Amino acid sequence: MGEMEMMMRGREEIEMGEDLTRPLPPLSFSLHHSLLLSHCSSCFSPLPSSPLPPIFPPRFPPSNSNPKILYCSSQCSFSDSPLHFSSAEHHLLCLLPSAAAADSSDLRAALRLLESNPATRRSSSVSRIAGLSTNLHKLANDDEEEVAARIRDGARAMAAARRMRDRDCSGEESEGEEEAMAAAALCAVLTNGVEVQVKSGRTLGVAVYGGGGFSWINHSCSPNACYRISLHSDLQTTSFLPDHETAAMRIVPCCNKETQCGCSYGPRIIVRSIKRIQKGEEVTVAYTDLLQPKSVRQSDLWSKYRFICCCSRCGSVPPTYMDRVLEEISVVNGNSSSSDSGFYRDKATQMLTQYIDDAISDYLSIGDAQSCCEKLDHVLTRGLPDEQLERNEGTSLPTYTYWLHPLHHLSLNAYTTLASAYKTCSNDMLALFSEANENLCVAFDMSRTSVAYSLLLAGATNHLFQFEPSLIASVANYWVSAGESLSTFARSSMWRELIPLSSLSSIIRHNCLKCSLGNKYETGSFHSQVQYEDFAHVSSKFLDCVTDYMQKVWHLLVHGCNHLRVFKDPLDFSWLVTAKYSSMWEICSHCSSNNIGSNSDIYENIPLCEAQGCTTQVRIHLFQLGVHCLLYGAYLSSICFGKHSYLTCHAQNILDTVEHD
Ligand SMILES: [Zn+2]
Ligand SMILES: [Zn+2]
Ligand SMILES: [Zn+2]
Ligand SMILES: [Zn+2]
Ligand SMILES: [Zn+2]
Repeated sequence: MGEMEMMMRGREEIEMGEDLTRPLPPLSFSLHHSLLLSHCSSCFSPLPSSPLPPIFPPRFPPSNSNPKILYCSSQCSFSDSPLHFSSAEHHLLCLLPSAAAADSSDLRAALRLLESNPATRRSSSVSRIAGLSTNLHKLANDDEEEVAARIRDGARAMAAARRMRDRDCSGEESEGEEEAMAAAALCAVLTNGVEVQVKSGRTLGVAVYGGGGFSWINHSCSPNACYRISLHSDLQTTSFLPDHETAAMRIVPCCNKETQCGCSYGPRIIVRSIKRIQKGEEVTVAYTDLLQPKSVRQSDLWSKYRFICCCSRCGSVPPTYMDRVLEEISVVNGNSSSSDSGFYRDKATQMLTQYIDDAISDYLSIGDAQSCCEKLDHVLTRGLPDEQLERNEGTSLPTYTYWLHPLHHLSLNAYTTLASAYKTCSNDMLALFSEANENLCVAFDMSRTSVAYSLLLAGATNHLFQFEPSLIASVANYWVSAGESLSTFARSSMWRELIPLSSLSSIIRHNCLKCSLGNKYETGSFHSQVQYEDFAHVSSKFLDCVTDYMQKVWHLLVHGCNHLRVFKDPLDFSWLVTAKYSSMWEICSHCSSNNIGSNSDIYENIPLCEAQGCTTQVRIHLFQLGVHCLLYGAYLSSICFGKHSYLTCHAQNILDTVEHD
């Protein structure tokens, strides 16, 4: 990665939702350090109850200490053990103090890269290893001492491990040469390494893919392709049989430099189109989160890859609508408000970021979901007053208050957290007081607020998706989450207490008469090229239906919630163009002043379950809305990741479960 002088182009015209490469093997990879004794170092699968140690070569007598890495099977141990020793990975693990070993995966991947590409030894230049740019001169002489030190110390440890391996034989290189090669390999891993993320998004390790293939695909903040990792064990169960590996690549490098073949095992990477790609057009992927504003993307890319992105989205003047709202903050000073006070923006951004981070860490680090919900709802509904400013410059000045735009990236983070934290609150409440009906009411209210936030998040990103089609992978994720949340809520046993006559089977036996999304899913024709090409049509059908159902259930989901009820329809954000979002919540001042306390800060004192509205009909609509979100999420996910991918299968599994309850 970061290979700005190389590029990959479409070899032919390619539609959206097509694999552009075969599953490409890694040049090098390593399991994350914390997983060394729980996952197989060769295939990354969880270890069985009796895992196998590496096979010690005759040169190295087995040590008495416990093995440092393990394998799931004799096959895995047989294929990977030789490299484990020859690369000096074993020696590195023996040398490193356990504290430093916490992030040894980059060093180990670099040792493996060095060993499997011996050509590096003879090469006078260390700017490239196996066709990969090392970025060595940029990283090793970096202004940030932390980066340079990490490379220096890492290279030293790698060189020491290699000397320890070679103690019987005379090494060919001097100490200085050894360290220079080690530094180059480490930089190649840092610059080109891809996180091996599988299933639910967990990171298992790092892998490096070859030049002339994946690593020459450049970054764009509006990319036309995405990638997924497939573990070898997954491949055997899908259509990728060995002969598939010789299948033609649909993208070609810009020049004819030699390409490297990788390991015969390890996590593979597959690139797929998310937009139509013309013949000869450059193929790009995202190296960073696209739902961030330009400044955040640029600093992230710089700190990881040392380049400044000049893609069309970054270069757009004026900034694109999406980049504008992702960082828009309104500053209110007494009665005057402005959406773009350049002077205060940096400070406001800093304060809001800090506040939101603190609230999120209440939940994620301390486990206090309720405090997190209160803080986030508070800042979204009332803004953040700048008291510091007031103190510093005398008390006579009116207070400045900073408001996040509802589509600000921090707002999106807040919705994600709120969806999860409210669900946790609800579950805690149910677990603690399963008997009392009053608590059931509160649990029910928190549960529906959680559902509402996941719908708001899906609606907000779907809105941005209309302006930036490369958001498809994020949007797929959020629709699946919203669908899962809705269908769980609609099927919850809490309803039994609230509407005794509402039985689950009567809820799920309804097909949508309006759209044929469900029928296409049943007949299996849903995830096909024909359907992808019909993208605009499928999407508008979906939005039609979802808008209908939303009108029937949204009011109920947000009833009493001071923040959420400002959104009349979570799919429609067009009103924000003219509205002052900082004043949207002022109409509700009567309830915020009366009720000061934990829950009343968020809700008016009308528990939903005592109000009318909880009917079987509403429950059916909630369920139907959930099914639509799941179907559309699965459709989008099959476009970006294929129909056998984790997310697609996950959504389909939920659909299968709910329909055969
Ligand atoms: Zn294995
Ligand atoms: Zn070992
Ligand atoms: Zn960019
Ligand atoms: Zn429908
Ligand atoms: Zn009110």
